[in-house]
Amino acid sequence: MTTKQGRLCGCRCTETTAGGKFRPGHDSKIVPQLEADHGSLLDFWSWYEEAMSTTPPPKR
Ligand SMILES: [Zn+2]
Repeated sequence: MTTKQGRLCGCRCTETTAGGKFRPGHDSKIVPQLEADHGSLLDFWSWYEEAMSTTPPPKR
């Protein structure tokens, strides 16, 4: 077992990854999470498009 500096998993499960963005398999939790938060994926997408239309993309 190696101990690496991890970061918080992107699916908001509050677990720490081994250095990636997600714990193994947790990236597939994102879509069900969005559906739960917004009612459905379509509702999320409508919300996202509306939010993005008034939010300029971050500058690089
Ligand atoms: Zn997770």
